[in-house]
Amino acid sequence: MNDCIFCKIISGEIPSEKVYEDELVLSFKDISPEAPAHVLIIPKKHISSLNELKEEDEKIISHVFMVATEIVKKLGIADSGYRIVTNCGEDGGQTVSHIHFHLLGGRSLQWPPG
Ligand code: AMP
Ligand code: ZN
Repeated sequence: MNDCIFCKIISGEIPSEKVYEDELVLSFKDISPEAPAHVLIIPKKHISSLNELKEEDEKIISHVFMVATEIVKKLGIADSGYRIVTNCGEDGGQTVSHIHFHLLGGRSLQWPPG
């Protein structure tokens, strides 16, 4: 957990461009954006992936989505549309083992993802 880059972003050890923060979650701009609007929303609690979710994390995860509805207003993409996705494991394309939700918008997104 100590060498988790997202935990380091939460602690401030690694800088980030924050777009939202409260006691449960942090949202910041993705360093390698795939769309004009691309932020990550992460729980402050270190949870490795969707596979590690516990009953007790239910409030945190629902909070992520409530917060997203505010962030999209801030980013100006609430009406144009957006996508929220979490990648899990190798086939899912997860590269950082701290659960995170990609929020993408600002362009027409393709479906299905590659
Ligand atoms: P995933 O591939 O789903 O695990 O997503 C990890 C995401 O974290 C990628 O989109 C990276 O661009 C992003 N990322 C990695 N390091 C940083 C960082 N220091 N600040 C912001 N975003 C990051
Ligand atoms: Zn972490």
